Amino acid sequence: MYPFTFIQPKNTGEALAAFEQGSKFIAGGTNLVDLMKMNVEKPDSLINISKLDLQKIEWLPNGNASIGSLVRNSDLAYDESISKKFPVLSQALLAGASPQLRNMATVGGNLLQRTRCPYFYDTEFACNKRTPGSGCAALNGYNRSHAILGGSDKCIATHPSDMCVALIALDAIIHLQSAAGERIVAMKDFHLLPGQTPEKETALAPGELITSVEIPKKEYAYRSFYLKVRDRASFDFALASAAVILSIQNNKIKAAHIGLGGVGTKPWHASNAEKILIGNSPGDKIYQQAASAALKDARIYQYNSFKKELAIRTIVRALTTAGGIS
Ligand code: SF4
Repeated sequence: MYPFTFIQPKNTGEALAAFEQGSKFIAGGTNLVDLMKMNVEKPDSLINISKLDLQKIEWLPNGNASIGSLVRNSDLAYDESISKKFPVLSQALLAGASPQLRNMATVGGNLLQRTRCPYFYDTEFACNKRTPGSGCAALNGYNRSHAILGGSDKCIATHPSDMCVALIALDAIIHLQSAAGERIVAMKDFHLLPGQTPEKETALAPGELITSVEIPKKEYAYRSFYLKVRDRASFDFALASAAVILSIQNNKIKAAHIGLGGVGTKPWHASNAEKILIGNSPGDKIYQQAASAALKDARIYQYNSFKKELAIRTIVRALTTAGGIS
């Protein structure tokens, strides 16, 4: 480790005012501290936001949920109203990491966690995300865990979050605050594709803080399911995952929401699959068609060709499970 300044603001205003080039906000630190130990992140100052008043789960008058960015992953997963109204979110949170990490990790930190591409963490290897312009060791390396959707010739790193996949399906809205004011960004626009600038991962501007995540009311979201497939059930990142929500009336699919994990360079919105489902009767045939459409543009690499079929089967099974909920 190297020296850095540790700043303890009393409120959000002080935290925002303390930010300067080279600063990082820190809350649970479950990813950032690892990155600092490995010399991947080298902030000049850490601004400890963990005590700020952003730790509440509230229900707004319009029925939307407002989740403070410092709510711990385990507190959110076990919140009774959240798990009843948005089971897909609780399931995704509980599929992520270990109980110890979930007790520390925050909602805001989960949104901002970095890829687990092993080359990103090892400074001996070329990595455009860590050092822009240096190359990508994964493209011709051991790319079994890498993305098959949304990659570029600069980066094919998979986004690691489970929670974010559920937030895609739930049409979440991210609330941001900076010294210049407040703004909102749709979850679907919050994470960026790598393109030619894989080092830029989110729509967050320098010095901006995530203050809350809003989940729009969805009466039918009780019919939802998160399925995660991984090498180790105890603790691992997804090889493929699907968060699905279905609204079914009179044996017709009225609304469908699908997020995918483990296969995309960002939490993936399977909008083309949703369109295929809407207006049809639920069943294996239409689920297969929708899942195949979701992976239509998949680009496989030397070691991850299995992911395409795995993701299709994951989507079909998640839809079958959600469709069977009454
Ligand atoms: Fe770096 Fe992305 Fe290539 Fe991994 S896939 S080595 S994160 S540029």
